[in-house]
Amino acid sequence: MERTLILLKPDCVQRRLIGRVVTRLEDKGFDIIAMKMMRVTPELSRRHYAEHVKKAWYPDLERFITGGPLVAMIVEGPEAIRVVRDMVGATNGLDAAPGTIRGQFSSSRQMNLVHASDGPDSATREVEIFFDEAEIV
Ligand code: ADP
Ligand code: MG
Repeated sequence: MERTLILLKPDCVQRRLIGRVVTRLEDKGFDIIAMKMMRVTPELSRRHYAEHVKKAWYPDLERFITGGPLVAMIVEGPEAIRVVRDMVGATNGLDAAPGTIRGQFSSSRQMNLVHASDGPDSATREVEIFFDEAEIV
């Protein structure tokens, strides 16, 4: 069993797509073991996106991710990290395969609806950034 951090980003909330994305994860058989709606602060954004902070487009990303409420969840299941990344699709919605979440719903490189941890180390790190142990059911 693996745990992975999923964020339904502000564009997902604004476009009222929370339910459709959650349904896809549940239909696949994953368990949601923690879930909350929250605002990401600039400080939290810098921690979560530490690998991108120095990039020219980071200020844009921070504006986007802090610009409205998002839904954070921990999803658990067999090989959850890889399988959820595959379900989410390529970063740019225009490149994401049609059957993926981004491929179906996004035509943007930045407003791509979902964040999913990209490996075991980032999953552990990101789960700890967003959730206290007591919030995991
Ligand atoms: P992923 O979310 O697929 O792991 P990255 O880690 O490369 O993608 O980037 C993190 C997030 O930053 C992306 O999901 C997207 O919202 C945003 N992003 C990526 N590249 C760009 C870019 N060139 N310009 C603006 N935003 C970007
Ligand atoms: Mg990434």
